[in-house]
Amino acid sequence: MTGVPSHQPHFIDGEPRDSVDGATFDVLDPVSNRTYATAAAGQAADVDAAVTAARRAFVDGPWPTMVPRARARVLNAVADLVEARDQRLAELETFDTGLPITQALGQAQRAAENFRFFADLIVAQSDDAYQVPGRQLNYVHRKPAGVAGLITPWNTPFMLESWKLAPALASGCTVVLKPAEFTPLSASLWAEIFTEAGLPRGVFNLVNGIGEEAGAALVAHPGTRLISFTGETTTGQTIFRESAPHLKGLSMELGGKSPVVVFADADLDAALDSALFGVFSLNGERCTAGSRILVQQGVYDEFVERFADRARAIVVGDPHDPRTEVGALVHPEHYERVLGYVEIGKGEARLVAGGQRPDHLPEGNFLEPTVFADVPPTARIFQEEIFGPVAALTPFDDEAEAIALANDVRYGLAGYVWTRDLNRAHRVAPSIEAGMVWLNSHNVRDLRTPFGGVKASGLGHEGGYRSIDFYTEEQAVHLTLGDVHTPRFGAGGDPR
Ligand code: NAD
Repeated sequence: MTGVPSHQPHFIDGEPRDSVDGATFDVLDPVSNRTYATAAAGQAADVDAAVTAARRAFVDGPWPTMVPRARARVLNAVADLVEARDQRLAELETFDTGLPITQALGQAQRAAENFRFFADLIVAQSDDAYQVPGRQLNYVHRKPAGVAGLITPWNTPFMLESWKLAPALASGCTVVLKPAEFTPLSASLWAEIFTEAGLPRGVFNLVNGIGEEAGAALVAHPGTRLISFTGETTTGQTIFRESAPHLKGLSMELGGKSPVVVFADADLDAALDSALFGVFSLNGERCTAGSRILVQQGVYDEFVERFADRARAIVVGDPHDPRTEVGALVHPEHYERVLGYVEIGKGEARLVAGGQRPDHLPEGNFLEPTVFADVPPTARIFQEEIFGPVAALTPFDDEAEAIALANDVRYGLAGYVWTRDLNRAHRVAPSIEAGMVWLNSHNVRDLRTPFGGVKASGLGHEGGYRSIDFYTEEQAVHLTLGDVHTPRFGAGGDPR
């Protein structure tokens, strides 16, 4: 691809910079697995420089103390710039991640929308006041929390970065972003976008690097008050541990193994479309993928057959081709891991579609959309997050069994329920242990709603005002209106 930079530096205090020790790491493109760029490999010294710059921008201002409307103007300018570059952004993202271009374009547009949304929200923000008539007035004063460390994964990198950057900046925090090492390319655009939009120097800083080095240094640095993390559950557990000595505020969006529950009375055509899109869009590298599809006996055999037929017809190919529905998985290490699960699945369940590299794509991280049927709940492909184009189908008899199966995993991110029975839909939804449930709908989310998981899928919810709550501290201010009635210690007379 033309115009792809061959080196990705950090961005610290308004300047591109290499690592203090000059270290770099290689970045591959997932279609050829050839190294196309190097990126600066951040270490503790680079993180320290970035946090110091962010801290200075926080203490000296003006960003944290600007009126919300002034910050919103910058955020709207960011949204305009992202929108104006959406084609280019999508091309770079597709090149770096292997995501199909049409889906990468949707993600770029969603990134712009995140900035617009938080610009609106911060202007509309109001805080509580509590009156005790004639006696006391209490009100909440909201302050940005400080320097926020933002650590992001490689699936839809630009959009997920925007999901943290927009509310953090809207709140008045200054930030250090550590993007995923597999996919640093699109993140490099933030520096020029923020500079052009007028974000003051030092407010946005970026350190590239390996998770266990740059990410860990960001978590360990005493100058980051908050860590917002999206990634694997095991990494989240490490970050939780490492944050404990500093009692940092944590927001964690972690892994998932979300159920799609299809009752026999469902609109099967709609359920089929949604279930296929839910597990195979974004190459199956989607935290909210409906990767366990539970189907009621009676329609199970028909559903399995139709699902497998459609999976076999999915267009796998060059991610830049707009006809492509499934592209290349992000990295050979991840590809090997997903292939490993496919082999495990062959010993655990009935393979009904896919299961290997497509014949017409001899190189790159391509996998046929893969479908296993009759998957028992004890199977590893039922229990573990695969994060690739692999679906597990399991039959159930009745509502109680459907709920038990849906909840029989450590994760609890999303759930999808398909039934024409309204009472049952509203009974089943709250019984599913998941932060988000969609009824007769695929995964579309209004930005005002809470986003997050329960169980091993996360800690805390973001979305709408919840994100502002995370990036700010609320201070209660109390004022006495009348005379002050304080017990008068030491005013009682002779102390002996
Ligand atoms: P990952 O946990 O391997 O890496 C995520 C980020 O953490 C990367 O930037 C990485 O460099 C960094 N990191 C790794 N080790 C670290 C450490 N010790 N200290 C600090 N930072 C460290 O995850 P991934 O493979 O990039 O992403 C896939 C995972 O993300 C999947 O489990 C997926 O479900 C999850 N995910 C969740 C959501 C959600 O909203 N719940 C969204 C997208 C992805």
